[in-house]
Amino acid sequence: MNDKKLIYVDNGATTRVLPEVVEAMTSVYNETFGNPSSLYSLGRNAKTTLEEARERIASLIGCDPKELYFTSCGTESDNWAIKGIAANALKYNKGKHIITSKIEHHAVDHTLKALEKQGFEVTYLDVYENGIVRPEDLEKAIREDTILVTVMYVNNEIGTIQPIKELAAIAKSHKIPFFTDAVQAVGKLDVKVKELGVDMLSMSAHKFNGPKGVGALYVRRGLLPANLIEGGGQEKGKRSGTENVAGIVGMAKALELAYARMGERAKIKEMRDYLAKKLLAIPYTRLNGDKDIRIDENVNVSFEFIEGESLLLLLDMYGICASTGSACSSNSLDPSHVLLAIGLPHEIAHGSLRITISEDNTFEDMDYIAKTVESVVSRLREMSPLYDAFLRSKE
Ligand code: PLP
Repeated sequence: MNDKKLIYVDNGATTRVLPEVVEAMTSVYNETFGNPSSLYSLGRNAKTTLEEARERIASLIGCDPKELYFTSCGTESDNWAIKGIAANALKYNKGKHIITSKIEHHAVDHTLKALEKQGFEVTYLDVYENGIVRPEDLEKAIREDTILVTVMYVNNEIGTIQPIKELAAIAKSHKIPFFTDAVQAVGKLDVKVKELGVDMLSMSAHKFNGPKGVGALYVRRGLLPANLIEGGGQEKGKRSGTENVAGIVGMAKALELAYARMGERAKIKEMRDYLAKKLLAIPYTRLNGDKDIRIDENVNVSFEFIEGESLLLLLDMYGICASTGSACSSNSLDPSHVLLAIGLPHEIAHGSLRITISEDNTFEDMDYIAKTVESVVSRLREMSPLYDAFLRSKE
């Protein structure tokens, strides 16, 4: 195993920007670089390019272009949706109760924690062992003073898919706005906002082969979350800041390619299942998250008696880029709140590996990953005092 390769299987963290996307962006940088707010033709051309990109994205996710606002990333979209509704509720004295799940990304979870410090009350819905919210729990959690329900579409760590349509219908029946962080869903599932019945939905281009630093928020017509960012009045006065035209064009191109290639994702699932089977054959290993109701690309496993960080460093030496916990918390040593929420004890939550594959991978890569993980896990266990104690206890 000395042949140094580079196998990228961390597509939940970010994805490779496709050449077609780079090409579309380069043309904006070279030819349509004007400020869309400028009145001369270079500016007007940039404005036209921007609005065309908005129309293309809106048509893919099934909304009116007027309902789509561009932002700088998924995190900003999440903050805006939640803080915007909370600010409205304060202004109109509506109530201070918000419902979410126990496994939200920090972009949502930390936003809610900040609101709790300002006097909001948050109910965190259980996700049980399979990592999925139960709609009947939402029904029970709704109160007179509930002002928002926010549940993510696809979990970034364990890949589980939440029953968004059912959850949104329940919120709607109580006239409560429903927001979904769909950063890990858009470009991977055939997301159509009107069919889902959500009021707001966030997305981020770098998760579907687009550039980093550009996102969007769908806001149903008639709903107006208060502004998060003030300034020159771009995006119909709702989100100021000179528009990232090249990034937005890149996002439109990436999303078109993602929707066009949706049918090819069956190969990703086949590879994922092939790899998962091999990884789960390693003793004292478990799969995290529902076996079936999960995104095609994700396999998340826990190996008892080892540390995920050590595993990652060793895998990196063999050219494998994977992740433990979520990408954004990988510089923290706390066990993942998602793995704890599905009932993993701390020590097992620490020994987790998330692999998120893409069209770029091959079955050969899966064989290499499985073989390398197996040998690295057994090396780490040989050095583990916990494993040693476990073996002795069995003697
Ligand atoms: N929400 C989820 C579910 C994510 O996985 C991520 C990124 O990992 C984000 C939000 C944040 O998106 P961005 O990196 O564009 O800020």
